[in-house]
Amino acid sequence: MTAATHSTLFPQVPETADAVLDGLDPEQREVALALNGPVCVLAGAGTGKTRAITHRIAYGVRAGILQPASVLAVTFTNRAAGEMRGRLRQLGAGGVQARTFHSAALRQLQFFWPKAVGGELPRLLERKVQLVADAAARCRIRLDRNELRDVTGEIEWAKVTQTVPADYPAAVAKSVREAPRDPAEIGQIYAMYEQLKRDRSVIDFEDVLLLTVGILQDRHDIADQIRRQYQHFVVDEYQDVSPLQQRLLDLWLGDRDNLCVVGDASQTIYSFTGATPDHLLNFRTRHPGATVVKLVRDYRSTPQVVHLANGLLSQAHGRAAEHRLELISQRDPGPEPVYTEYADEPAEAEGTARRIRDLIAAGVPAGEIAVLYRINAQSEVYEQALADAGVPYQLRGAERFFERQEVREAGIALRGAARAGANDSLLDDAEDLPAQVRAVLSTKGWTTRPPAGSGAVRDRWESLAALVRLAEDFARAKPEATLSDLVAELDERAAAQHAPTVQGVTLASLHAAKGLEWDAVFLVGLTEGMMPITYAKTDEQVEEERRLLYVGVTRSRVHLTLSWALSRSPGGRANRRPSRFLKGLRPGSGSLGAVGSGGASGSVERGSGPRRRGLRGPARCRVCGTTLTEAGAMKLMRCEDCPSDMDEGLYERLRDWRSEQARELGQPAYCVFTDKTLMAIAERVPATDGELASISGVGVRKLDRFGAEVLAICAGEEGGTDEDEV
Ligand code: ATP
Ligand code: MG
Repeated sequence: MTAATHSTLFPQVPETADAVLDGLDPEQREVALALNGPVCVLAGAGTGKTRAITHRIAYGVRAGILQPASVLAVTFTNRAAGEMRGRLRQLGAGGVQARTFHSAALRQLQFFWPKAVGGELPRLLERKVQLVADAAARCRIRLDRNELRDVTGEIEWAKVTQTVPADYPAAVAKSVREAPRDPAEIGQIYAMYEQLKRDRSVIDFEDVLLLTVGILQDRHDIADQIRRQYQHFVVDEYQDVSPLQQRLLDLWLGDRDNLCVVGDASQTIYSFTGATPDHLLNFRTRHPGATVVKLVRDYRSTPQVVHLANGLLSQAHGRAAEHRLELISQRDPGPEPVYTEYADEPAEAEGTARRIRDLIAAGVPAGEIAVLYRINAQSEVYEQALADAGVPYQLRGAERFFERQEVREAGIALRGAARAGANDSLLDDAEDLPAQVRAVLSTKGWTTRPPAGSGAVRDRWESLAALVRLAEDFARAKPEATLSDLVAELDERAAAQHAPTVQGVTLASLHAAKGLEWDAVFLVGLTEGMMPITYAKTDEQVEEERRLLYVGVTRSRVHLTLSWALSRSPGGRANRRPSRFLKGLRPGSGSLGAVGSGGASGSVERGSGPRRRGLRGPARCRVCGTTLTEAGAMKLMRCEDCPSDMDEGLYERLRDWRSEQARELGQPAYCVFTDKTLMAIAERVPATDGELASISGVGVRKLDRFGAEVLAICAGEEGGTDEDEV
């Protein structure tokens, strides 16, 4: 993500079409100037592919060669689409559609459904898993949780490869996939799943594309109408196009060839869903007259990060690897990547949070830091650790910002105030724009200081705070701006879905990080089993995991930390091994022989938590004795649903004390102690520093700062109350 400074949030729009080209190198410029016919850009991470295509569109629009409404730019995640809309707007080409395949298709489907089919479009199913479980039950097939996930994945794969249930067994035999169960059974569940969907009048994610394709194939009048509207197509991250998306793209194009695709075969990370880099790599065969451009200058990352990325790819195999391009960093040197081994997962999370705090203290904005993991379930322990370290973070994608209720309500209030103008008693003409905005938003619950606690109230406050910051940046960039100007700006941003950056550390899965960049990136949980993930079994699947790690490494501009933990929970068996992909790259992991430019550099550190907990053996529930694995449960030292023996009165007193502290420090309450930590304290009622320190979430820093007070509150309860003595 780009930094939320006013210079990047409100950069000057280039004055002329030619000025748009000034920001490009010669090869990127070649892309921007090739406005007709097929164009293919094959290039590695950070070489400016997305930049080249956004500038290409903007140049075409600004030079009057492209009609904004005739261009459709497609990419793969909502976040990337939002980013693209933002960049286009900054270049003065805000009217161009930039969408995901899915949202572009959904829009067309909603529009043409009444004409093509009649009635209203069936409801869109948010998640398939429950329906797949129902279908399996109807077929009298028992699936455990993992099988359910795998079978759902198979159904998705079958649909995007346009395989009907009856053909599934043959199709899977022909592919390189390994079916998670008897293919005949999966075919049966798939057929039942389709039946249930019809019975319940719902459609799924893939149906949106399938139905759009169906309508475009069958209804030439509708296809013509869409083709008249869109003349130019641009696809980012083309290496991840599925056969179904490709089919849709072909139908959009018809017999025309104004198509520009950009991609990096080494970043193919969705082939498990049927995506294939073949379309990218075979583009020239399919379009013999295509302009093909290769970019190798890496503008994003330091030579140190690029060296690691090149080294990682030098070990890759398969078709994508044959086409890899060696990246050449254009940046000044930076720090070596850091490799850190931790004893257990909570220690890894705490160590990471500490490093993040240090980076922030050294001047790296929180919004420029990301923690990336393989699966979403890994986020919890990092959420806890960051909260414990007093570091703000965000999990949600920024693209929905303007859809949040509090933001919509704030928009209405600001619009009302702008309309009322000087007549509004809230608005003092003498006050500057940010002050006016703060005054209006204070009626919606905004306060100078963040509220105590985390959760919904805090989220709401963060949204309003982001609006206040946006107003401040806007006023700095345009000192003469009025409240009406700001409202117009917000409307435009909402239309472009370009949200202001929420200033927190980003927690995201590697898949969700695609196309984005940060100054500092922490790649965590890099153990065998997680990277590559256990269910990557075939060579192809393992190669895809390696590419996923490559995507992670190349998100970093300057600081890169790679870490793993030897056991899951404190005191557990240290039976984990660092990811095989780091072999030959991290120091002390043996040489690879022909590593090329990717030899080991940097150093392996041995991380520790702020304090070791002195636990022997795995963490167990105090109530039922089960081994604990979830971060929250480990904090409480019991399963979350086991009965609590918490002293409610003590808990309340600790909460009051915490609110007081938070107010004094001007920090959210969770930065003092999280609810879970307070609960653990109220359950265990520590009497000594040592006992208090053994509670997760009470690090050395917090022990020094708050230990005496917390123990005093606990002692007040233990040592008998005043009432007893009266
Ligand atoms: P990915 O493969 O990760 O999607 P990409 O090839 O799309 O990467 P971009 O995101 O377009 O790369 O660019 C990476 C970074 O380098 C961005 O911050 C971009 O602004 C910057 N950059 C690209 N080209 C140039 C250039 N010619 N001059 C200055 N900065 C550039
Ligand atoms: Mg990109």
